[in-house]
Parts: sequence; structure tokens; C-alpha cells
Amino acid sequence: AATGVSTSVRQVKLDKECELRIETSLDSPLRLRLLTGTAEIFGTEIPPEIWLTIPPRLKFAVFTWYGATIEMDGPTETDYTADETPMISYINVHAVLDGRRNRAKASPSDSDTSQGPRVVVVGPTDSGKSTLSRMLLSWAAKQGWKPTFVDLDIGQGSITIPGCVAATPIELPIDPVEGIPLEMPMVYFFGHVTPSANIDHYKVLVKELAQTLEKQFSGNAESRASGMVINTMGWIEGVGYELLLHAIDTFSATVILVLGQEKLCSMLKDVLKNRPNVDVVKLQKSGGVVSRNAKVRQKARGYRIREYFYGPSNDLSPHSNVVNFGDLFIYRIGGGPQAPRSALPIGAEPAADPTRLVPVSINRDLLHLVLAVSYADEPDQIISSNVAGFIYVTDVDMHRKKITYLAPCAGELPSKYLIVGTLTWIEN
Ligand code: ATP
Repeated sequence: AATGVSTSVRQVKLDKECELRIETSLDSPLRLRLLTGTAEIFGTEIPPEIWLTIPPRLKFAVFTWYGATIEMDGPTETDYTADETPMISYINVHAVLDGRRNRAKASPSDSDTSQGPRVVVVGPTDSGKSTLSRMLLSWAAKQGWKPTFVDLDIGQGSITIPGCVAATPIELPIDPVEGIPLEMPMVYFFGHVTPSANIDHYKVLVKELAQTLEKQFSGNAESRASGMVINTMGWIEGVGYELLLHAIDTFSATVILVLGQEKLCSMLKDVLKNRPNVDVVKLQKSGGVVSRNAKVRQKARGYRIREYFYGPSNDLSPHSNVVNFGDLFIYRIGGGPQAPRSALPIGAEPAADPTRLVPVSINRDLLHLVLAVSYADEPDQIISSNVAGFIYVTDVDMHRKKITYLAPCAGELPSKYLIVGTLTWIEN
């Protein structure tokens, strides 16, 4: 095991079923290439000979099924070889899913049997859920399927910025550097990084997303047979557990993969025991998964938002735009903390409906907030509409009544209806 800063060009020979675990340095990229054999990064094969430039702060593994030689150039935080991985059990799951996809494809006219596997990946924080989701998607895409990736993890978004639930078809193995292509993701904005900010709103969005996908599948036998991989949050206790069950129900999941927690697995097996068409499978967590504390997660969220505006390799240039207050209509969802029923006069309803649309007046409180641009045509559609993208408020001029914001592109926003939550970002 080599830890620390090493800058020379070096080669690592990997035996079959071993992986090279790397954390790239905090400030410089790492160049890496495959010299001999075959290897993959989280399910995506790496091309022979070609140098890949891996950005700073990335934690990943180069795994080989049959043996490989890897060459690295540049510093790393850590890099070491591991010969114990759960990869065989993961690829076995893939093989089972593949069989189910083939069966679904063979009966396109039957609405029940034509549905491919709907896989929900659950487990505590830092159990490798996103990574397993990614591998299953890439392996499926490599075989020509177009599985749908659903990300319900609002804390650390894999598809788009944090604070959203989102889905996108995966048509090619996911690029280890570029991540998931953002052509047409279906994104619903929650606006907070934990569901406890407004549980009902979160559930509404999960339901909207599921219904939209269901509609898309009904007209697309290929997507339907390919199924879904649904990544969830690491919050698995109390309300978090209720939300997992809610997701399993809402998406009519057929396979639940439980990473690294016996208790969660037996709880799920127990509550789902009367559903013969749902399999609950326990899988081992990889020893390579890197734990992240609250501060690291917070930072990662910031990088993710930065990536949205500036691109994964800092290759996009967002535009700064100025508009009049009157040109934007900003709303938030829910009326703040709800008064307990016991505190109200008998017969009175709590005033704060958690899914009520509340107009927000523009003032300097909006500074540094990330807002979503709704696809809604009318305000009352906002809660059930997905979003076109995001803007970042960089200035609010109360005197001139103008708001300055950063957007991925110049020109008018696709809609004047914006949604605000508590998602902030400090650009640096
Ligand atoms: P969350 O708590 O945010 O839901 P998670 O359970 O989805 O986390 P991942 O995001 O999959 O966990 O993994 C955590 C980190 O560990 C990621 O940065 C990932 O790239 C890294 N990682 C996962 N598996 C490996 C591995 N085998 N070798 C090296 N790094 C890994």
C-alpha cells in the first residue's frame, strides 16, 4: 500500500479479481492508462493505451476480472491494491437482472411480464449505494439495454445538483470522468438537502417522478424491459425507513438490494414477506467505499453545484444575467413548520399546508440561493412540474429592483416561475 504524494510515472500490476483503489489529490488531476489486460472503473471498461485524466478529489477503483497493468502519472492522496472485493456477488446480481430483462423483452405485449426488473438500492450512508447503482447500470448498458437510473438521494445527487429527485435513461456505460450525460434528465426540485425539511413535499415529488416514468414506459417497450435502478438516501431509521418503503411502493420495486446492514435487510424481508414478486437481497459492502463526514458531504454538494454551472472539467462558462424583479415569480413550497393540531382550537385545520405554494417576495434573503426554473405554465402546476434547470442568485439590488443571477446559458429563462428552498452555494 502506498500512501502520500507520489508524482513519478509508475505501473501497478493487478491480478484477476483485484482492484486498485485511488483517491486523487485535492488539487491536481491524475493521468492513468491501461497498459495490458482489461479493466473497468465502476462497471465501465477503460480503453487500452489511452491516457485518462481523472479530476482532483475523486475516489474510485480500477477493477480487473482477468488481470491488468495500470500506469499512473501524477500525485494521489492514496492508492492501494485490494484483492478482496464483493464484485463477484455484484456481477451475479447483474446476471439475474439480465435474465429478467430478457424475459421481459420476450413478452412485449403483456403489461405485467414485459416489465423488466425495478431495482431499489438501499443501505446506510457510505455503503456504496451510488457506486453499485452505477455498476449495474453500466453493465446493463454495455449489453445494449437502456435502463432508467432514478436518484432519490437529495443529499448527494448523481444525476444533477443536490436537493432534487431525478431520472435519466442510461444508454451507454457511464463515463468515469464525465459522469452521467445530462441530455434529458427528468428532474423535480425539492430545494433542501434533507427530506425532513418537508416530508410530504418529498413524497409528492417521488410520486410525480414515478408517474411520469410509468407513462414513458407504457409507450416504450425497450425502456420497460430494461427496468430501473433506483438509488436511495442513507437515512434508514424512523422517517427515513418510512420513505424507503414509500419509494419501494411508489416505484413498484421488484428487487431490493440491501448493502451492508443485516438489520435493515431483515426488517425489509419481514415487511415485504407477503409480496412474492419482491426479492430482498443482502449484499456485502465494499471495503473500498470511503466514508465522508458532514463537512466533506457539504463540500461535495458545493462542488456538484459548481459542476452544474462550470462543467465537470471546468469547461463551461455560465452567463450572468440581470432582470427586473417584475420579470420573475418566485415560490416556495410549504408554509414552514406546521402547528401541532393539539395547539389549535377544536375543529380548526393547521394553516401550514406542507405542499402549499407560497409566493416569495424578492429581497436580499435570496442572495446565494440556488433556484429551480419550473416547466409549469401556471403557478398551480409548479408542485407537479419538473424543472428545466437552475439559477444562482449573485446580487439583489433593492434600489434598482434588479436581480443578478448565474445561469448555464445566456438569454431568457424557459419560464418565469422559479422555486426556492434552502439550497445555498458560496461560489469560490
Ligand atoms: P451516500 O451515503 O451518499 O448515499 P453511498 O452509499 O451512495 O453514499 P458511494 O457514493 O457509492 O456511497 O461511495 C462513497 C465513496 O466511496 C464515493 O466517493 C465512491 O466513489 C467511493 N468508492 C466506492 N467504492 C469504492 C471502491 N471500491 N474503491 C474506492 N473508492 C470507492
